[in-house]
Amino acid sequence: MKIILIGMQGSGKGTYAKLLNEIYHLEHISIGDILRNEVNKKSKIGLQIDEILKKGELVDDKIILDLLENKLKNNFVLDGFPRTIKQARELEKITKIDKVFYITLKDETAIKRLTTRIQCEKCGAIYGNRKKPLNDNICDICGSKLIKRPDDNEESIKKRLEIFHKETKPLIDFYIKKKILIKIVGEKTIDKVFSKIEEYLNK
Ligand SMILES: [Zn+2]
Repeated sequence: MKIILIGMQGSGKGTYAKLLNEIYHLEHISIGDILRNEVNKKSKIGLQIDEILKKGELVDDKIILDLLENKLKNNFVLDGFPRTIKQARELEKITKIDKVFYITLKDETAIKRLTTRIQCEKCGAIYGNRKKPLNDNICDICGSKLIKRPDDNEESIKKRLEIFHKETKPLIDFYIKKKILIKIVGEKTIDKVFSKIEEYLNK
């Protein structure tokens, strides 16, 4: 099965993607991780991406599509892409999507979660109020230090939410028309949200 997860930052979609990977063996393709890898490698493209992200802006389609190439053959859960109808159309040319889960969240909840979240500087794992690390400021997965991302300040978050709403609304409508969109309320606990996803997974 080929799945897309849509949700604003803070919706927990990365967590649900990881669960779908562990339990249903769908390959987790996270655009955030792919971009972070490039930045860490300090490749030519990585340095470019670093600049864009530091400004709180979005990386352009051409860069992402190039990085995604060849990753979409097997079953997957795609996290962080597409963000626009234009990207969705490009994706359609490459592969057929079975289901799109849209994890909804109120802006105020997103702001609250994002201003309190910390992230592993090495592997990108995210922690916050709903998922605390076993040891303070140490990543459960790789043991590296947890840091607050510089772009997780309220001003930058509001800017990202604004972009998200503006761009995502048409994308949601696009997948509603294709009859593959499922809305999931993201305010509840991780367990409850995930069992809702599972409920629809094999319908
Ligand atoms: Zn880590």
